[in-house]
Amino acid sequence: MAQGGGAKQVKLERESELRIEVGNDAPLKLRLLNGTAEIFGTELPPEIWLTFPPRLKFAVFTWYGATIEMDGSTETDYTADETPNISYVNVHAVLEERRNRAKASPPEDSNSSQPQGPRVIVVGPTDSGKSTLSKMLLSWAAKQGWKPTFVDLDIGQGAITIPGCIAATPIEMPIDPVEGIPLEIPLVYFYGHTTPSNNVDLYKVLVKELAQVIERQFSANAESRAAGMVINTMGWIEGQGYELLLHAIDTFDANVVLVLGQEKLCSMLRDVLKNKPGVDVVKLQRSGGVVSRNAKFRQKSRSHRIREYFYGLANDLSPHSNIANFSDLSVFRIGGGPQAPRSALPIGAEPAADPTRLVPVNINRDLLQTVLAVSFAKDPDQIISSNVAGFIYITDIDLHRKTITYLAPSAGDLPSKYLIAGNLPWLET
Ligand code: ADP
Repeated sequence: MAQGGGAKQVKLERESELRIEVGNDAPLKLRLLNGTAEIFGTELPPEIWLTFPPRLKFAVFTWYGATIEMDGSTETDYTADETPNISYVNVHAVLEERRNRAKASPPEDSNSSQPQGPRVIVVGPTDSGKSTLSKMLLSWAAKQGWKPTFVDLDIGQGAITIPGCIAATPIEMPIDPVEGIPLEIPLVYFYGHTTPSNNVDLYKVLVKELAQVIERQFSANAESRAAGMVINTMGWIEGQGYELLLHAIDTFDANVVLVLGQEKLCSMLRDVLKNKPGVDVVKLQRSGGVVSRNAKFRQKSRSHRIREYFYGLANDLSPHSNIANFSDLSVFRIGGGPQAPRSALPIGAEPAADPTRLVPVNINRDLLQTVLAVSFAKDPDQIISSNVAGFIYITDIDLHRKTITYLAPSAGDLPSKYLIAGNLPWLET
């Protein structure tokens, strides 16, 4: 169904959407000719050409009708008049009501619980549209003047920062459909792998750290407390993945659980949460427009995301290559890598690998072409509980001179000498 180049106009009836997968090789230009339309909750400006990068998948939705013009080639584009957006916007309306109620509540005395906006968690299998729904709810809220907090627990994709992290950031404006979320100063914790099964305990520890920081921010800021949060989760919903969902619901004190397109998950959650007063579990339909992405595509988009961190979406950033001495930096790994095999231990001893143990890493060529996080810790003891300032990419290690060459978003000294290694290889292409 690939479409050739050239401009074309598409007329959209009310409550319908134009679903687009941009081609692999070239960007697509698109503009709103008349009417009103939005991309995942963010309104399109009239007449202005927007440029969408290759491979992006998105939908232009209109509540009241619109004409769209596009120029360039697409992998697919088609209109659909069946979308779940009415049910999504109804959820938004309920959340708005709760935000207003929280804002209007009188300042509490220290004993009673504080007025609380919605704490929404979006759950469902992979490719059910979780990130998309999260963005819509955030953008609609931001349009109304709220600054809700976006929490991204999905280490596989990284909507806020690079994959392998969990992160949070306030959303102050509707999310730009091209640029995504501004990378200003998100609160980021580095997990270092793209699947949680690698170190489930560490994942839980980091989720807890993140939740505590947000809790502190909320108690100091009535406005963000009333705006609440939207938490995006991973698509891992079976076994341990399910346990992690319950852990996240509990840790963030979620009071609205939105389940996308999974009857079974919804009824399981309803069952376990029925004893928790004040938690609503709502089942929502998955949009027919959500595109399934295979493992290879995911791997590719992870690489793109890392590349974007250093080089910008349109190659508009110029990262710096810096050189440091081995002695200037301390690299650690959390969890200590593979366990010793039972056969290597004294008889009767159990292999014990403390999942949150900090293990110093010898700097050697194993670190080549990997991404390391720069911790904000002042002392190694603080590394696990500290968020990270950003990331570097190791391009060369000179064992003779004992120097490391790395790429960083900017020149100058790193904010800290403590670096965390994970398992985030990236081939700079
Ligand atoms: P999940 O977070 O559950 O893995 P996403 O929200 O990331 O799923 O959606 C998967 C992909 O489908 C994304 O690339 C997203 O942009 C795309 N997508 C979601 N909804 C639509 C839609 N209505 N039309 C076209 N593409 C969509």
